[in-house]
Amino acid sequence: IPTARLDKLLANLGYGSRREVQALIEGGRVILDGEAETDPAQRIYVKADLVSRMTVDGAPLDPPPGLILMLNKPLGVTCSQKDAGPLIYGLLPERWRRRDPALSTVGRLDKETSGLILLTDDGALLHRIIAPKSHVPKRYHVRLARPLAGNEGAALASGTLMLEGEEKPLLPVAMETVTPTEVFVTLNEGRYHQVRRMFAALGNHVDALHRDRVGGLDLPADLEPGAFRILDEAGIARIF
Ligand code: URA
Repeated sequence: IPTARLDKLLANLGYGSRREVQALIEGGRVILDGEAETDPAQRIYVKADLVSRMTVDGAPLDPPPGLILMLNKPLGVTCSQKDAGPLIYGLLPERWRRRDPALSTVGRLDKETSGLILLTDDGALLHRIIAPKSHVPKRYHVRLARPLAGNEGAALASGTLMLEGEEKPLLPVAMETVTPTEVFVTLNEGRYHQVRRMFAALGNHVDALHRDRVGGLDLPADLEPGAFRILDEAGIARIF
């Protein structure tokens, strides 16, 4: 288990500058296991259980590093760190946006795509999910501008469909039809604007796009657009 100086831990969680958190600690405002911890240099085991053992000004400590969140991305926010428009990071509590290591999205959804997106500060975990060879499937609910012609499922499953401007065919995509203008597709890779470009290649157009599953992890029905939840071990295991 890694250890960290208390002042560094709090500063890295966004509670303030090193000086500010030292004042907070020396002021007796940080409680560990029921007692004020007033030494900024005290070394602390950095474990998830700190959340239930430490308070700052009476509130549970923010989750220590090694965090993964699922968020229901609303339409109109971007997954970029520095875009002009509203950013997905603006949906996080203010302090959480100052964390070091920072939380970042696991891959991206388009500005006009909604649904399940993961955020993490764990670089190794991020890599495990997005590395091409890990093949974590992602499922999308698609609303089409025009009714299906009938050959789309076969074309997507064939592993021969080419996207405009690319040289390698797409990996097979599974399609389930709900209505003639509504389908689910499950992708095993994530090329730029893949779902929109796939249906463009098939002579159709995507009117609405929503991701509802990553690996075996479903977007919870009670997670409102814009809201997020911390994934526990069982939730993380569902991804793979
Ligand atoms: N495919 C797209 O076209 N957009 C997304 O956001 C995700 C997959």
